[in-house]
Amino acid sequence: MIAHALTIVKQNITDAARQFDRSPNSIQLLAVTKTRPIADIRIAFENGQTRFGENYLQEAIPKIKALCDYPLEWHFIGPLQSNKTKLVAEYFDWIQSLDKLKHAQRLNKQRPVHLAPLNVCIQVNISNETQKSGVMLSELPTLVEAVKAMPRLHLRGLMTLPAKRVDFNQQRIHFRAMYNAYQSLHSSFDTLSMGMTNDMRAAIAEGATMVRVGTGIFGERVK
Ligand SMILES: *Cc1c(COP(=O)(O)O)cnc(C)c1O
Repeated sequence: MIAHALTIVKQNITDAARQFDRSPNSIQLLAVTKTRPIADIRIAFENGQTRFGENYLQEAIPKIKALCDYPLEWHFIGPLQSNKTKLVAEYFDWIQSLDKLKHAQRLNKQRPVHLAPLNVCIQVNISNETQKSGVMLSELPTLVEAVKAMPRLHLRGLMTLPAKRVDFNQQRIHFRAMYNAYQSLHSSFDTLSMGMTNDMRAAIAEGATMVRVGTGIFGERVK
C-alpha cells in the first residue's frame, strides 16, 4: 500500500512539473510521518524515500533514535517551544517551522559542534491567519538577515502552510505570494517548501521546490 501510494505521489509530482514547464528533479518530496509507526517509515525508506518530516518532538525523538542506522534526513515541521529547541538542534537535520528570533538564537547556540549547521526554512503566515504559526511577510526581511548571520544555522529558504482552499486557482493565490517573497529575498535560497496532499499541484504550479506529503503516502491519519 505505502509502496504503491509513494509511486503515485511521485508520478503526480512529475506530471504537475511537466504541466507547468518545470523539471521534475527540481521538486523534492518530504514524507510526513506524524502519527505513523516506525514500520511505515522503514517501508517508505525501502521504496526510496529518505526525507521525513515530524511535527511533535515527543513522538519524533524515539523514531529518530530507532532509525539512527538508516541514512535518513529528518525535518522538524511542527510548532516549536523555547524549552524544546535543544532537542531540535541535536536530533534534526532541518527545521522548517522557525518563526522567532529567540528560537533562532537558541538553536544557533545549541547546535552540536560535531554536526553540520542546522538547515532552516522560515515559516511564513502567508494567509494572515490569527493563531497561525509563521511570521508575517512584513517581518520576514528582519528575521532573514538575523538568521543569515548565525554560523550554526544554514538558511535554506521559506515554508508555508496556507489556509485551506479547495479550488485550484484559489490555492494558487497564496502560493504565488510566497514565490514572490522567495524571489525578492533569495540571494542564496534553494528551498521553497509548500504544498501538501491536497494542494501539491497548485504549489508546484507556483514554484515549490519541496512538497510535504503525509496522507497521500500513508493514508488517513487516525486521531
Ligand atoms: C501534517 C502536515 C503535512 C502533511 O499533510 P497531508 O495533508 O497529510 O499531506 C505537511 N506539512 C505540515 C506542516 C504538516 O503539519
